[in-house]
Amino acid sequence: MIAQRIVMALAIWAVPALAASQTPGQRVVIAAGTLLDGKAGKLRDVSIVVEGGKIAAVEAKVGTKARTTAKAADYDLRGLTVLPGWIDVHAHITWVYGKDGKNAGMTGTTQEDAYQAASNAWVTLMAGFTTIQSVGAVNDLPLREAIAKGKIAGPRILTAVEPLVGKGEATGTPEEIRAFVKKQKEAGADVIKIFASQSIRQGGGITLSHEQLNAACDEAKKQGLRAVVHAYKDAVRAATLAGCTQIEHGTLATDEDLKLMAERGTYLDPQCGLVIENYMQNKERYVGTPGYTEEGFAAMEKILPMNHDLVRRAMKTPGLKVLFGTDAVAGAHGRNAEEFIDRVHDCGVDPMAAMVSANSLGAEALGLGQEIGTIAPGMQADIIALDGDPLKDITAVRRVVFVMKGGMVYKNVARGTIPEYAGVKP
Ligand SMILES: [Zn+2]
Repeated sequence: MIAQRIVMALAIWAVPALAASQTPGQRVVIAAGTLLDGKAGKLRDVSIVVEGGKIAAVEAKVGTKARTTAKAADYDLRGLTVLPGWIDVHAHITWVYGKDGKNAGMTGTTQEDAYQAASNAWVTLMAGFTTIQSVGAVNDLPLREAIAKGKIAGPRILTAVEPLVGKGEATGTPEEIRAFVKKQKEAGADVIKIFASQSIRQGGGITLSHEQLNAACDEAKKQGLRAVVHAYKDAVRAATLAGCTQIEHGTLATDEDLKLMAERGTYLDPQCGLVIENYMQNKERYVGTPGYTEEGFAAMEKILPMNHDLVRRAMKTPGLKVLFGTDAVAGAHGRNAEEFIDRVHDCGVDPMAAMVSANSLGAEALGLGQEIGTIAPGMQADIIALDGDPLKDITAVRRVVFVMKGGMVYKNVARGTIPEYAGVKP
């Protein structure tokens, strides 16, 4: 009898908690004092109604009604800045440090590697990123599935599975390249990643012919997939002309190249700081591992100002769609938002443009513009809140105090208590 009462008491206690945060079918109301809608719109004193994991309504409330709403709200986020969960269109979510603490890249298969990849996903979500595009690792697949099934917490993952690495003629004939693209689609790829340039650490020269690039991007299109291309210098123009969807990095692209991209509607995903800063901060973990030499690190120091210059020119190019992608590798996961600060402080990007690049524009680039990236009825309930106003002080992006993904609340901590980098040190 006593045991039964305890069970009953527990059940009653558990239900309200579940109703608010765990049951996507339930109606949940969020009161927001300041809302950035993801499309450069700013709303005051609204309540967001979430039902079935989606946004059912965004209701404007004024005067005394606002107080009533806030009282009735399941989550009172007034005093914070509420916005759609961020989208990082370029991460390497399964890149980890190995047991020896050194860069193990993306191919780790030990238990430690798997836990680290899961940790990367967790800290990325806690940092406010509810969707990421991971551009190229077979290991992404089980992580994507585990998160999609709700087995572990993490951002929604889109993956390229295995990237096409340009090696000149050795890459293969156009037919072989088409077969490779089809193979990725069959393996479950959401996007095709193509390397059309060497690493910038090795000079960044073009590694695919026009014929090869055409085959890769055309076949991606035929398979209903987007093609994102790692490209520097003249590879930027070549990939744009080949009809590829998106250019990654883009260092040393000319103003004419950027203009062409704007005309063709090709997205640009440049990096202003985090990826190189992370390499510098963690140099001893990278030097000596495949692809990372002392010379490469010396080159990177020179590349940082070139990237600043690219972002500045890109933002001034009329009509060019500039995305938010961090290129996060081991050491940078969970610190993705640092790239916002770099963009605003070092590259002169307007803070609202920086937010939109990781909201509606990022969603559009992923082909998910009708599902995520905006706070509006019918969209997925991916909602975050910052302790501060990023439009006035961009470092507010470090203080993510609330994270909801698909109607589930994963984080809701007291404002003023958030540790810098959300507990993740560089
Ligand atoms: Zn990358």
